[in-house]
Amino acid sequence: FALRIASTMGRDQGWLAEHMLILGVESPEGKKHYVAAAFPSACGKTNFAMLIPAIKGWKVTTIGDDIAWIKPGKDGRLYAINPEAGYFGVAPGTNTATNSNCMASLTANTIFTNVGYTDDGDVWWEGMSKEAPAHLIDWQGKDWTPEIAKETGRKAAHPNARFTVAATQNPVIDAAWDDPAGVPISAFIFGGRRSTTVPLVTEARNWVEGVYMAATMGSETTAAAAGQQGVVRRDPFAMLPFMGYNMSDYFQHWLNMGQKIEQLGAKQPAIFCVNWFRTDANGKFVWPGFGDNMRVLKWMLERIEGQAGGQDNIFGTSPSYSDLTWDGLDFSQEQFDTITSIDTAAWEAELNLHTELFEKLAYHLPAELEATRASLKQRLSA
Ligand code: GDP
Ligand code: MN
Repeated sequence: FALRIASTMGRDQGWLAEHMLILGVESPEGKKHYVAAAFPSACGKTNFAMLIPAIKGWKVTTIGDDIAWIKPGKDGRLYAINPEAGYFGVAPGTNTATNSNCMASLTANTIFTNVGYTDDGDVWWEGMSKEAPAHLIDWQGKDWTPEIAKETGRKAAHPNARFTVAATQNPVIDAAWDDPAGVPISAFIFGGRRSTTVPLVTEARNWVEGVYMAATMGSETTAAAAGQQGVVRRDPFAMLPFMGYNMSDYFQHWLNMGQKIEQLGAKQPAIFCVNWFRTDANGKFVWPGFGDNMRVLKWMLERIEGQAGGQDNIFGTSPSYSDLTWDGLDFSQEQFDTITSIDTAAWEAELNLHTELFEKLAYHLPAELEATRASLKQRLSA
């Protein structure tokens, strides 16, 4: 079922159909958690689902990279399955340095769309290797050489060129990836592509604040979404293109789910908001991302276990520099500050955009969300 159909069934039947990857993460001590994460299209789901940890001893395995169906169990925990059989990923930028698990999945039995076609019958896209092939046929069927690219700016592959491949070709597929019982979810992660404003990671103080974070999520547009690139577009729960019914009723459905978990006596999954995409004055990403996202994931799991420190801020709890593990990465306190700072003026503007969103979604908008917005605004101006 497509998400539009499944989300409506989920509303009627009391479960969640989400635009989420699901991954398993095991600590060096052998403690395993599953988390689900919603990022809008082309914001890193497939990469995160196949992450190769930059910290020794940790292991990440994939349940799914795009869609999750999540149902409350009798024990009150939420159990997620991946309803899909394979992966559908953005090709440009995918390479062995950033995601070798993904590249290893693509060595055979793969369908590519709008990539470059090399003279020896292979595929190529921008960012696949430092050196481009001397000649290929580009995604539009034209001759392409690095010289032509330099002169005309023409790309070998379309920015939204894709691959699709069976999940079973993923070298780090989780043993439970096809288990109809699903896997218990310890945390939800929401994140978009924001060059400013949104810090690296924030933990919501409670379920309602987490739902608020997800509902007001924004992302700068990429090639996968229609229209202009680089403009912030609100994408609640990364579900905007896929919702089968009124968005505000869907927020209510999430709030109800939180209450149901509580009533069943279980602990609600933690909710986090992440942003891998803050840039410096030159427009370059400051956070290394990819395998280094393990540092953030580790902090989240330690938060769940009640082991990691954090600092309360206006929107929730974020790690201080010393709360993250830095082994094997040269990343200064100053760099960390660039991607975690909270700019009051930027957040005032951001909250005004939340108001605009809520005006659009006024029909059935849950009162708790408007109350959360008001209280954040108050904290900000205090
Ligand atoms: P999906 O459509 O949400 O599954 O996104 P993908 O995982 O296919 O990634 C989309 C684009 O974002 C690709 O060009 C990736 O190289 C890039 N990307 C993914 N994760 C990161 C990250 O942690 N940091 C940065 N800077 N880019 C990333
Ligand atoms: Mn994907």
